[in-house]
Amino acid sequence: MSFSSLALSDKLLSVLTEKGYQQPTAIQAEAIPAILAGQDLMASAQTGTGKTAAFTLPLLQLLLDKPVNNAPTKRASVLVLTPTRELAVQVNSNVSQYAVNTDISSLVIYGGVSIDAQATKLAAGVDVIVATPGRLLDHVRRGSLNLSSIEHLVFDEADRMLDMGFMDEISAILKQLPAKRQTLLFSATFSSAIYDLSKKLLQKPVRIEVDKANSAAHNVEQIVYAVDSDRKTALISHLISKNDWHQVLIFSRKKQTADQICQKMTAAGIETKAFHGDLGQGAREQVLNDFKQGKIKALVATDVAARGLDIVELKVVVNYEIPFVAEDYVHRIGRTGRAGNTGKAITLYSEDDALLLEEVETVLDKRLPQQWLPGFEPDLTKMEQPSRKNSKAAQRQRAKKRALGGKKRR
Ligand code: AMP
Repeated sequence: MSFSSLALSDKLLSVLTEKGYQQPTAIQAEAIPAILAGQDLMASAQTGTGKTAAFTLPLLQLLLDKPVNNAPTKRASVLVLTPTRELAVQVNSNVSQYAVNTDISSLVIYGGVSIDAQATKLAAGVDVIVATPGRLLDHVRRGSLNLSSIEHLVFDEADRMLDMGFMDEISAILKQLPAKRQTLLFSATFSSAIYDLSKKLLQKPVRIEVDKANSAAHNVEQIVYAVDSDRKTALISHLISKNDWHQVLIFSRKKQTADQICQKMTAAGIETKAFHGDLGQGAREQVLNDFKQGKIKALVATDVAARGLDIVELKVVVNYEIPFVAEDYVHRIGRTGRAGNTGKAITLYSEDDALLLEEVETVLDKRLPQQWLPGFEPDLTKMEQPSRKNSKAAQRQRAKKRALGGKKRR
């Protein structure tokens, strides 16, 4: 992927060329389109991943797209909160560098230095404010800053902000901000306190995880791709071809879906067989042998049929849909990463499955951040309108599961 495919203005792209950035980092590739699309973001990323440019570039682009940017009295529309003065200075320096070819201005605000000098600069008008929470509030309280024009709020290193005891300041700042805004939350780790904060702050966030800093040691890498339902088989076929995977076990909820996936993938040139209860014993053994011997690349199975399947070196499991019973997810992904091998579990997620994904995350006690696979990005207009029918079905399932109650949570 190149930066030029990310819908950024030449004013920004030329800086990246000068800096010698060849291509977006992983977090940039995922965050930039989501931010440009106006979505909230919950990103797990540490320093060194390129996270600063991941939020700065698209926010500058959004400012460039606004006609008001040329108005003489600049009212800040971007606020970046950081835990420390050092980080604030560093982020602000990045903003200035990336904005060098534009007339967008930025200001850094932190404590321990003259507040009057900062107030004078604020009064002159500025587009982007990068601040530590305490001093920012001082300005709000003394009337040198009004936050009602903020449209984009960024939390950089949110975990450190909470560790440093800034929660009260954050709550006070939030009260001053317009409710209608875009909020981006970056954190190196995700604790329950961060989840609580994210619930309060974010609306339907795109979740991105580019490092495994906080994930429990586990030899199955779990990836969730948000994708439109009608592009799921195309996405799987693409991944199999691109990665030259020889043995992929795909799970579907129903026999008919298994057959449909099988047909589509066979048509796409990938040797695939379905594996479900409608097959006679002989046929099942035949299909399984073909799969184990590499005669077919993909096996599409239902949960019931797959129970007890043991394929020693299975590298990839795909959840075509999230199972209705969250514990089945654990069984499914447990088919790979066996005997000390590493494995990948890829889950194809569409908005209809939101509640089911939540259930899985509860069972795992872990967030499964969604990603977009370039070329298979979901149609965001469709994503915003989940099918009521399916959501209700999912809710019913959830209610049912709760009612059954007794299942052990791992
Ligand atoms: P950060 O994670 O934001 O602290 O950035 C880490 C370093 O990576 C900074 O020095 C950036 O200038 C640099 N950087 C950011 N994006 C890229 C990129 N796409 N290619 C090369 N270097 C980058």
